[in-house]
Amino acid sequence: MKIYLCDLVHDIGQRTRVIPLGIGTIACAVKDSYNDQISTKLFIEAKKIIEKLKSDPPDVLAFSNYIWNTRLSLKIAKLAKEIKPNILTVMGGPHARPDQEGLKNFLDKNKQIDAYIPFEGEAPFAALMGECLKKKTFDIKKIGFVQGSFLNLENYKFERLMVKNDDTSKKEKYNSAYYTINRYSSPYLNGDLDEFLDDPSLSPMLESNRGCPYSCTFCAWGIGSGNKLIKKNLDRFLDEMWYIGKKTKGDVWFMADANFGIVKDDITIAKTLKEINKKYGSPKTFIYHTAKNNAKLVFQVANILGDSAPVNIAVQSFDPKVLDKIKRKNLNNKEISQFIKMHQAEGRTTTTDLLIPQSAETLESHLTSMRVGFELGFDVINTNILRMLPGTEMESDKSRKEFGFKTLWRPMDSGHGFYEGEFIFETDESIMETSTFSIEEMHYVKSIHFLTLLYWLHGVGKPLLKLALNIGINPIDIFIFLAKDQKSELSQKILKPLQQEYKEEWFESEEELIKHYSKKEVYEKLATGEVELKKLNLKYFANMIVEIDLLASSIDSIKKYIQENSKIDKELLETVSKLAFDTLKTDLTSPDLSKTIDYKVSKENFDCLKKFQIISKDEAYNDEDKSFSLNFYFPEEKFMLMTNKLKELNFEENPKNAIYTAVCIGIGKFLYNVNTNYAVKESSYNFDKNPFERLPEDQKEIAQIHP
Ligand code: SF4
Repeated sequence: MKIYLCDLVHDIGQRTRVIPLGIGTIACAVKDSYNDQISTKLFIEAKKIIEKLKSDPPDVLAFSNYIWNTRLSLKIAKLAKEIKPNILTVMGGPHARPDQEGLKNFLDKNKQIDAYIPFEGEAPFAALMGECLKKKTFDIKKIGFVQGSFLNLENYKFERLMVKNDDTSKKEKYNSAYYTINRYSSPYLNGDLDEFLDDPSLSPMLESNRGCPYSCTFCAWGIGSGNKLIKKNLDRFLDEMWYIGKKTKGDVWFMADANFGIVKDDITIAKTLKEINKKYGSPKTFIYHTAKNNAKLVFQVANILGDSAPVNIAVQSFDPKVLDKIKRKNLNNKEISQFIKMHQAEGRTTTTDLLIPQSAETLESHLTSMRVGFELGFDVINTNILRMLPGTEMESDKSRKEFGFKTLWRPMDSGHGFYEGEFIFETDESIMETSTFSIEEMHYVKSIHFLTLLYWLHGVGKPLLKLALNIGINPIDIFIFLAKDQKSELSQKILKPLQQEYKEEWFESEEELIKHYSKKEVYEKLATGEVELKKLNLKYFANMIVEIDLLASSIDSIKKYIQENSKIDKELLETVSKLAFDTLKTDLTSPDLSKTIDYKVSKENFDCLKKFQIISKDEAYNDEDKSFSLNFYFPEEKFMLMTNKLKELNFEENPKNAIYTAVCIGIGKFLYNVNTNYAVKESSYNFDKNPFERLPEDQKEIAQIHP
């Protein structure tokens, strides 16, 4: 029996590309179960699977189903049925409601799919293949029923395939061999993923555990594992890591765990990553999702990983009522503040995420959450619109009704492409109105989010915002002021067109969205590059970066707001304002990578700059001249990386477009580094004086989750 497994990504505008660990694990499950009775092949590129389907079609074609590849996979499944009508098509993954009705609706709508496997896929897929072998057929009518799969048949009754307990202990253990994560061989260790490890454009994906013990209503992560955390055998996982380190050509590794730093094994994993990096030079960057409530372990893990991993403390909201409605428990604000300081003292950047509009969220409660984020000292505050994920509590009919969710549709930013003459893109259903958050407020808040990205995340004028925070002005109030001034150049050139384009990108239904982008005159413009599906905040950020005068005038507006709303010393304000502008590298392609600038300022104001962490505590003051000097520098390696890319992207002719792409792939840098290293090493935290009051309880909670 020949099986092809696909975990597809789009040709154009694709996001991060990772090694297909999921389908690799499924392939192991069937190979372990049926040995030489089957052969498997893995695909991530649409072009390759299309070619192979035409030249050598398999008996079974299976797809992962995620928000970023669902329509692409459905297109290929349809094509496969045209090429070989008796091919068995199977789909599995989280992008379908996993209940009887949800699965039936999905399959009714997508007749080209013969079977759907929700939840963990290995054992059900192996069981389905076993039935095919036993009954010598790929016809679902002859198969009739198989536990764990929803066959696309009239009146089919789905039954979930549950994990059997370890009979010897009568207990489920979180690292039990009985869980599928430990039951089958490793696709890394048996060489199935070698061809992908050879590709430098692919990042290794690791999975040390599966599932999430929490149940935030907007998230699908815990659904597959029944809100349990299921742990992979540590020795086997460490072997996989060493194997990847030796073989991979990718520098960035991704951890698929929902809560890295939740169990003590994660310390061993972090240490091993460092050893692997030392021996093989990879990973240079390690991306992971931080555990929500285990601050001590997360801090230890971050200390071991050092600069190779950013720290994200996602909160989604700070409003207690909202957190209650979305069933989320964050660390309390005192703990978060302490946590941020500890990480910053080690020189690390701390990031948080806020999602809107959550259940029971209002514009005011969201703006308050943003204010709190600034006050707590987060270096980065990411804001995102809530996507509806099938199967989550938030996406249920009950929640939609209870909170008055109104959703709209737009193209998903996961890429698109032309496949067999058809333009295929992915769709994104997001909440754009609730009974407590109007659509007009959602349009308005887009400007606030953009200004946060511009001034805080990308740091244009950040020294002024730091000064503001230190004298009791929250950056959110400055952004509200800037957004209110409808006549300013900033509003006219950036905020208004941004809002307008934002309003226009939404459609009332998925059908309308698809109909629009299926029009020849629309997709042809996409094909020629005349029109692009861009992330709007980044598009307008790129537009702004090339307008030096506009950047300067907007920094000036921030200065004026601070002046008019405080009793700030004029000299201090002027100095910070100048420093904010000096930090910008206005000529992006100029090889002038360093400069020294003198600032005349009183000793008192100089001390304030240090206290507010606007300049380094190590800066020296020149008493004679009453001045200090700052050395600005732009790292050569980053400069070369960026300018080479900009040239390749035709920067001279289309600078906005080139900058947009450079920002999207994370190599667009527009600020000089200043020696403002405010790491206070001597304050390194000692856990004998642990401030996390809830820690013993957290440990207890985890122990209960994993008996
Ligand atoms: S803690 Fe994170 S992964 Fe777990 S349910 Fe909540 S959002 Fe999802």
